[in-house]
Amino acid sequence: MALNPIHPLRQLDGAGGQVAAKLERIGIAHPRDLLFHLPYRYQDRTRLTLIGELQLGQDAVVLGQVELADTQSRGRRRSLSVVVSDRTASMTLRFFHFSAAQQRGFLRGGWIRCYGEVRRGRHSLEMVHPEYRLYAERPQTVTEASLTPVYPSTEGISAALMRRLVAQAMDRELGGLNECLPQAVRERFALMPIHEALQTVHHPPPDADTEALVAGTHRAQQRLAVEELLAHHLALGRFRQKHKARHAPAFAADSGNWRKLRAQLGFKLTAAQRRVIGEVLQDLQTPAPAMRLIQGDVGSGKTVVAAAAVLRAVDSGYQAALMAPTELLSEQHRKTFGEWFEPLGIGVEWLAGRMPAAARTQALRRIAAGEAKLVIGTHALFQEQVEFHRLGLMVIDEQHRFGVDQRLALRNKAADGGESAPHQLIMSATPIPRSLAMIFYADLDISNIDELPPGRKPVQTVALPNSRRPDVAERIRRVCRDRQQAYWVCPLIEESDKLQAQAATETFDALAGQLPELRIELIHGRMKPADKEAIMRRFHGGAIDLLVATTVIEVGVDVPSASLMVIENAERLGLAQLHQLRGRVGRGAQQAACVLMYQPPLSESAKQRLGILRGTGDGFVIAGKDLQLRGPGELLGTRQTGLQQMKVADLARDRALLPKIEHIARTLHAHEDGSATADAIIRRWVSSRETYAEV
Ligand code: ADP
Ligand code: MG
Repeated sequence: MALNPIHPLRQLDGAGGQVAAKLERIGIAHPRDLLFHLPYRYQDRTRLTLIGELQLGQDAVVLGQVELADTQSRGRRRSLSVVVSDRTASMTLRFFHFSAAQQRGFLRGGWIRCYGEVRRGRHSLEMVHPEYRLYAERPQTVTEASLTPVYPSTEGISAALMRRLVAQAMDRELGGLNECLPQAVRERFALMPIHEALQTVHHPPPDADTEALVAGTHRAQQRLAVEELLAHHLALGRFRQKHKARHAPAFAADSGNWRKLRAQLGFKLTAAQRRVIGEVLQDLQTPAPAMRLIQGDVGSGKTVVAAAAVLRAVDSGYQAALMAPTELLSEQHRKTFGEWFEPLGIGVEWLAGRMPAAARTQALRRIAAGEAKLVIGTHALFQEQVEFHRLGLMVIDEQHRFGVDQRLALRNKAADGGESAPHQLIMSATPIPRSLAMIFYADLDISNIDELPPGRKPVQTVALPNSRRPDVAERIRRVCRDRQQAYWVCPLIEESDKLQAQAATETFDALAGQLPELRIELIHGRMKPADKEAIMRRFHGGAIDLLVATTVIEVGVDVPSASLMVIENAERLGLAQLHQLRGRVGRGAQQAACVLMYQPPLSESAKQRLGILRGTGDGFVIAGKDLQLRGPGELLGTRQTGLQQMKVADLARDRALLPKIEHIARTLHAHEDGSATADAIIRRWVSSRETYAEV
C-alpha cells in the first residue's frame, strides 16, 4: 500500500479527477457498489436504421457520411449542425455545446455512426446531442450484439462513462461477490444465482428476452427485486426488534373510566371494534412499546378505539397525545374527546396553530405539570418542543399519508434516544393490501376494523359530466328541502391553498346565485382556524345547508346528517382520496349519495377509477385497485414512502413477488446463520443514509 491511500474507485479507468467524488455523492464509494448500480432502462442499438426510414420520436442507430459541418446563430444561441446522409436521405445532428476540436473532427466524407432520438428539425429530421463515433473508413459493425443498459447518473458523468465504469467493476468484483441467499432458499423459490442475475442485467446476452428486460420482468431482474424487497422487509424487522427491546409502561389491566364511557356511548361497539380494542389493550399491558397500525375504512369507528386506549393510559397515571394531520380534524377530536372526557373529569388540552401566546404558555404548562391528560394537536405542533409530564401513549390519526421515514423518525424522537418509549397506535383509513403491508409495515403489528357500524347503507355513487350541473343543483335543493345537508368539494390539482381557495370561492358565488333559498357557506384552508371551526360547528348543528369546501374536509370530518357529497373534477383525483371524500357522507341513518362530476372526455384510467368507485364502497377493494392502477407511491403518499429509492423493485409491477418475501424471510431466519445473512442483505441494498439503518 502506498503511503497515500488510494481511493478504491481510482482503480477504475475513467474515475480520475472529480469523477470519484461525484460517484460518492450518489452513494457509490467502492467499485463493488457499482454492481448494484442497476440500469433503469435499456436502449436497443442492435439494429441499424436507414435515414429514409427514421420515425419521429424513435431512438435509432444511424450510419452515414458527413456532408457539412457548420455553426449557426439563432438569437443568442449558437449551435453546430452536421449534415449526415446515407444512400436513402440526409439528416442533421445538432450540438449546442461543442468545442472547436469537436467541430474540426467532422470531416466532409468521413463516416459517422450516431445514436439518438429522432426529432423534427427546421429543414430535416434531427438528433440533438447524439452519441456518435467517427471513422475514417466505412466500419464493419456499428450495432451492438445485445441491449445497451442505461444507468442512473449524475451531472458530469456521461452515460458512456457510467457504462464503462460499471463494466470494469463487473470484471473486477463480480467473482468475489457473495451469494446471500442460501441454496435451499433459491431452489425453493426458483431464484437464479446473484452472479447470473447481475451478469444478465448489466450485460444482457444476445439471446436474452429483450422484451422482458425492457419491461423489468426478466427473471434476472425479479431475482434482484426479491433480494431488494427482502432487504427492506428485514431492515424494518430489525428496527422493530430494536424498538421492542425498549421499555414502555405496562398499563393497568382494567380502566374504570373506559367502562363508564362505554356505558354512555349511545351505541354498541361492533364485534370488530371489540376485537381490535382487545388487541390494543393487550399491547398496552406489556412493558414493551406497542407499535400497532389500526386500519379501518372511513366511518368504521376508529376514534372510540383510540378513546379506549387513551383512558387506559390515563387510568394508569400516564398522559396521552393524539395527533391529526389537519387542524380541522384536530379540532373535531377536541370536540369529541371533550364531550366524552369532561364528564369523567379528565383534562383535555388542545394545541392550535395560532394560539395567543399567553394561552399557549398556559397550555404547555398544564401539559408539563401533568394536569392535561390528553393532548390533541396536529403532527406539526408535536414537532415543536412539547414537554410532557409522563407521556405513555401516542395516537397518530390518519397516518396514511406518512412514509416509513417519518414514522421511524417520530418513534425515535419519542424514545428520545433513551431506553424507554411511549406506546404508539397509528390509525389509517387507507387499508393497505396485506402483501404490501408485509414490506411497508413490517415494523408494525396490524389490526383491522373490517366491519362498519350497523345500519350504514352504501353511498349511492354516480358520475356525471359538467354539463349536468343544473341537475346537480336541483338535487341539492331537494336534499336540503328534506332537512339534510350537502357538501360540494372543489379540488384542484395544484397543491396551492390559494388557488384552491380561489376556485372554491368562484363555485360558492355561482351556487349562491343558483340556490338563493339555501344557507350556503364556504370553507377552505386559508381561513382562520376559529372561522373554520365556527363554520364546522354550524354545519354540524344544521345551521348550514350546503358547505362548499376544498379538500380540507378530506380526512376524518364527521357530520351524520350530511347525506349528499358532490365532488368536482373527480377525474383528477385518485381512488383513495375520492373514497375518503365520499366517506364524509353516509354516517347517518338516511340513504346517502355521492355525485362525481367530471369534464369530458375522460381518459381510460379516469374512466376505470370512477367505475370502481361506483362499483364498490369497500376500502380494502379500492386500495387494492389503487395499488394496481397507480402504484404504491400514490397509495402510501408519494415521495416520503422511502421506497422510491429502490433500485430494481417496483412495487406495482412486482406485486406478485410480495407474498413470497415474508415467506423467504421466515425460511432465512430458520437457516443456521440467518442473522448474518440478513445483515449482509440489508447492507447490500438499504443505503446507510436511510433512517432505519441508523437506528
Ligand atoms: P373513523 O373510523 O372514520 O374515524 P369515527 O370514529 O369518526 O370513524 O366514527 C364514525 C361515526 O360512527 C361517529 O359518529 C361515531 O360516533 C359512530 N360510531 C362509531 N362506532 C359506532 C358503533 N359501533 N355503532 C354506531 N355508531 C358508531
Ligand atoms: Mg377518524
